[in-house]
Amino acid sequence: MSGILLDVDGVLHVSGHPILGGAKSIARLREAGHRLRFVTNNTTHSRRALADEIRSFGVGLDDEELQTTPIAAAHALSGKRVLALTMPAIVDDLEGIELVGEGADAVLLGGADEGFETNRVFSYFNLARAFAELQDGAELYCLHKNRWWQTSRGALLDAGAFVAGLEYASETEATVLGKPSPAYFAAALEALDYDPEQTWMVGDDVDADIVGAAAFGLRTVLVRTGKFREEALEEATVKPDGVIDSIAALPDWLEDR
Ligand SMILES: [Mg+2]
Repeated sequence: MSGILLDVDGVLHVSGHPILGGAKSIARLREAGHRLRFVTNNTTHSRRALADEIRSFGVGLDDEELQTTPIAAAHALSGKRVLALTMPAIVDDLEGIELVGEGADAVLLGGADEGFETNRVFSYFNLARAFAELQDGAELYCLHKNRWWQTSRGALLDAGAFVAGLEYASETEATVLGKPSPAYFAAALEALDYDPEQTWMVGDDVDADIVGAAAFGLRTVLVRTGKFREEALEEATVKPDGVIDSIAALPDWLEDR
């Protein structure tokens, strides 16, 4: 039996449309005795809302099995004064953080959303405010630093571009809280009580899922759904241990090994 860390966006769904066979696949993995943890870089839903969305695909899971970046931020930045450029939906998960408009200990950037809110959160006004706080000594954190993500409308610019812009302007380096940071994988393994070599990471993102997990010693499977691109696989410096058509193929693939 293995531990299995499952990415959510692009693996179980794209823009809320479930990947065919995903729910059945998850049920079979559980029946086979594997221990699962859903490890997402999603930054636009509260954990409760995201768990509800996954359950609406027919996937059975408890809220506690879902690891999200806002909750990682709440741990990392507990008790600090934080200027947060994040989607409003995740604010409830930033428990224990004091959200401020100025005099911040840290600046926190979340990811973009498909809706109009992204325009407001990452406005020039807000980015310039964040820059001013960094100039005054605040530390820079981000939920992830993804360049883009796959939506039903195609590839959309993600907030990694804004993180990189603030790093450039303030000559600092952001601490990444979500994948591919080692701390995020470590938290997932601790929750499962498994070692890296007993555990698979299954994702659609070569950089965040595969390279990050492999660096941490996990075995990796790339799915050909979501943001999967043949070129990204060919150019990857770290190759996944397996490549499968979709999450639907995972139970058979694991059994065959
Ligand atoms: Mg993904």
